[in-house]
Amino acid sequence: MKAVRSIHVSEPDLSDLERSYVLDAFDSTWISSTGDYVRDFEREFAKLSGTEFAISCCNGTAALHLAYLGLGLGPGDEVILPDLTYVATANALLYLGAKPVFADCDAGTWNVCPDSVRRMMTPQTRAIVAVHFLGTPCDLAALRTIADDCGVALIEDAAEAHGSSFDGRRVGSWGTVSTFSFYGNKTITTGEGGMVCTSDPAIAERVRTLRGQAALVDRPYWFDEVGYNYRLTNLACAIGLAQVERFEELKAKRIRVRGWYERAIRDAELPLALQDAPVGADVVPWMVGVVLSADSPVGRDELMRRLASEGIETRPFFHPLHALPMYRRAKTDGGCPMSAQVGARGLMLPTHTKLSESDVRQIVECVGRQVRDRAAATMTAGG
Ligand SMILES: *Cc1c(COP(=O)(O)O)cnc(C)c1O
Repeated sequence: MKAVRSIHVSEPDLSDLERSYVLDAFDSTWISSTGDYVRDFEREFAKLSGTEFAISCCNGTAALHLAYLGLGLGPGDEVILPDLTYVATANALLYLGAKPVFADCDAGTWNVCPDSVRRMMTPQTRAIVAVHFLGTPCDLAALRTIADDCGVALIEDAAEAHGSSFDGRRVGSWGTVSTFSFYGNKTITTGEGGMVCTSDPAIAERVRTLRGQAALVDRPYWFDEVGYNYRLTNLACAIGLAQVERFEELKAKRIRVRGWYERAIRDAELPLALQDAPVGADVVPWMVGVVLSADSPVGRDELMRRLASEGIETRPFFHPLHALPMYRRAKTDGGCPMSAQVGARGLMLPTHTKLSESDVRQIVECVGRQVRDRAAATMTAGG
């Protein structure tokens, strides 16, 4: 059967507001990285993340690099991070010669397990990175306690969790420094883009300096250290400002989509689990993820292929980072067995603001059909 229309896993939500701001930036001729939209987007994003300062940059990976630099991390420093995260969280540590140490994930939230983080602490540990997987906040109270007990920094990679909160406080405001991504599939997008958030004025100053080639304010073309050009354009910030102004709308739509999935999946009694949230979490879902049960008749990759053939695009979860060639020799908590399982059996279902309730029903029905077909085929084959 030929798919009538394909359902994309993600789609940006760009309205007339984004359009009018970006045209205004264009018409002003301030298309580079100086301009009112840069200032306004940074100011409004700081409010959204509950921090004093927000420093825009060209992507979420650059934001991580700047955040790690801002904390002064360097060669030999160990940093504990989840094994189940996007590769950028760890890569930016390698840029500095720091050592990623992988902690395992929790079976229900798929976020880093605080007990595992505690087990991986050594005298060389300098920081913990909390990543809010798919938009669901980590148990930030537990991680904050561990960081404080051990005298190390807490960093948040909040690339997937714009506007989510824990214990009534926005993610991004729990860490000494935190980062966001505005890639095209993220909850707030600028096409490509990133942000470093902090309430520490010294870190903010350091990040601003390094973002702009480490140029000195009062001595043109003199540099006394190596910096980076990680700036974001006024054009991109124009889109970002409109997205922040529309945040309540974007958030409500994503929460509604997740609600439809929860209901449809519960009604269909499928062999898969949705993501748990820790007590105290207020989630703005980035992607709705599901993990197939160990006894699911259909495997993850086969399910994804069959959904694709019916026009439904999905994504697998991240591979556990310890499996990637450049991290094979990194320290892990006993091989991080839970993150390996969740990574192998998880998939992200289409999640964006343009989905209707009937789209979601259709997706879940299609998953159900694949499960039943596969179960029937197995029984036939088994006699
Ligand atoms: C998207 C993402 C990033 C950064 O991505 P960029 O593509 O560099 O903007 C970092 N960490 C996580 C967990 C992400 O999901």
